[in-house]
Amino acid sequence: MNIEQIFENNKQWIAKQLKTDATFFDKLGKGQSPEFLYIGCSDSRVSAEELMGLQAGEVFVHRNIANMVPNTDLNSMSVINYAVMHLKVNHIVVCGHYGCGGVKAAMQQSDLGILNPWLRNIRDVYRIHRKELDAITDEDAKYRRLVELNVQEQCMNVIKTAEVQKANTERNLKVYGWIFDIHTGELIDLKIDFDAILKDIMAIYKIGN
Ligand SMILES: [Zn+2]
Repeated sequence: MNIEQIFENNKQWIAKQLKTDATFFDKLGKGQSPEFLYIGCSDSRVSAEELMGLQAGEVFVHRNIANMVPNTDLNSMSVINYAVMHLKVNHIVVCGHYGCGGVKAAMQQSDLGILNPWLRNIRDVYRIHRKELDAITDEDAKYRRLVELNVQEQCMNVIKTAEVQKANTERNLKVYGWIFDIHTGELIDLKIDFDAILKDIMAIYKIGN
């Protein structure tokens, strides 16, 4: 694609938005109050707003390789802090996707340089769920399951943060684990029962009263 085309696309997008709502950009200029925080993969095939059918201003987005929420990652921790404490979102989504290159790389043994420490977080997810994953003989099924379990663990990392714990007691903040199936376009809610998963371990991660 020619880079000039991008600016042409932008002009067309402005015209389209104004045709639907003449005050669209006036509203954007006034500030944002999205109800959702979306944490997803950087994969070019998984675009947050488009797959959720949302407009600019409706979702606060954070994307990185394999939708990770490592607790020492200043970037994702800052995004969660800002979304929960300042934007006061009431829904936090971690959305993984089948066919995730980051998850695939973590299942292989190659040395990927600077990506190694990042991908090791996914290897840790594998270690935690090794029994279940090793029992799956079909490689593709195992890959898909690791994508799902990674979403589950990253949701738990979200819940472990002080901000989310505080918001949970103060208001009805909900965390969701989703998968985007790139083969069909379908958005799948994993319907993770966090209360059941965290029942025995939340005492370890509890911060504050
Ligand atoms: Zn991915």
